[in-house]
Amino acid sequence: MSQLTDGFGRSFPYLRLSLTEACNFRCSYCLPDGYQADGRPQFLSVAEIERLVRAFATLGMHKIRLTGGEPSLRKDLDQIIETVARVPGIRKVAITTNGCLLPRRLPGWHRAGLTALNVSMDSLRRERFHAITGHDRLPEVLEGIAMAQQLGLQSIKLNAVLLRDRNDDELPDWMEFLRERPVSVRFIELMRTGDNRNYFERHHLNADVVINQLEAAGWHLRPRAADAGPAREFTHPDYRGSFGIIAPYSRDFCKGCNRLRVTAKGDLRLCLFGDFGVALRPLLQSDEDHDALLARITTQLGLKAAGHGLHQGLTGLTPHLASIGG
Ligand code: SAM
Ligand code: SF4
Repeated sequence: MSQLTDGFGRSFPYLRLSLTEACNFRCSYCLPDGYQADGRPQFLSVAEIERLVRAFATLGMHKIRLTGGEPSLRKDLDQIIETVARVPGIRKVAITTNGCLLPRRLPGWHRAGLTALNVSMDSLRRERFHAITGHDRLPEVLEGIAMAQQLGLQSIKLNAVLLRDRNDDELPDWMEFLRERPVSVRFIELMRTGDNRNYFERHHLNADVVINQLEAAGWHLRPRAADAGPAREFTHPDYRGSFGIIAPYSRDFCKGCNRLRVTAKGDLRLCLFGDFGVALRPLLQSDEDHDALLARITTQLGLKAAGHGLHQGLTGLTPHLASIGG
């Protein structure tokens, strides 16, 4: 029985753990000038991660997503995956990556126990992908996705941020892409963060535009499973793949929230756009602090708010999503 519940009847079986703030891409909506290190940051070690995940699993969490920054920049990623996959109670180990290192690293992650892969891919066109991310790496990303299919990963999802005038005319190409591929493409509405206000004004596109196009092409909204997250899923009998829509500005988005976040330095964040974090790292130094760690996590959950303040332009502590893992 999960003890990870809040005062609004939501439960949180899912943890998103950031492994690093560093990134090798320069996505125009996230880190347009690339990652700027602040001194020599020390991100959570494997031993700290193990204690953290044991605590969350004790409280009922069974799915963990490793994110960043770019998690594949961690040299010890195979070891991290293996460690968290072995924690009793953990059933799913997922990663969110920009995908450029997949051809080299995916077999090792798979051997270590990775079950699900999310790859960010904002365009199917090489020159656009280059323009949006700052790197001409679409061929490697596509090779990595094909490899994931061959390896038989349980779940493969592609994330594309919807960008007005940058990639908002590619829906027919995406449909073709999904005709024979049993993967899910998630369109994410651009979120406003502390650093991207002007970009947001220029390129934010309401996800309803895509939903209308999907429905007009015969795609149907799948009934929402009780334990589903905030994505709305669309399927079509003629296509093996599916679309998901993640629309943080839509009504009731926060009602489906099922996740907690921990930053690469060990702060618990109750909301992507919350205005406070709670340091768990001091309690990750010794196994003797296990009970105190459980108490700190459950006490904090009682403080989780019903929803974010994005509609009021409040972006909380988040300068860009690389700082917390999206
Ligand atoms: N570097 C990895 C990647 O890009 O997949 C993991 C971290 S990234 C912050 C996680 C996800 O957040 C990516 O799919 C990215 O496209 C998305 N993202 C970043 N900034 C965003 C924003 N302002 N609005 C919506 N999605 C954003
Ligand atoms: Fe890096 Fe991911 Fe942000 Fe792109 S979205 S800059 S890949 S952290």
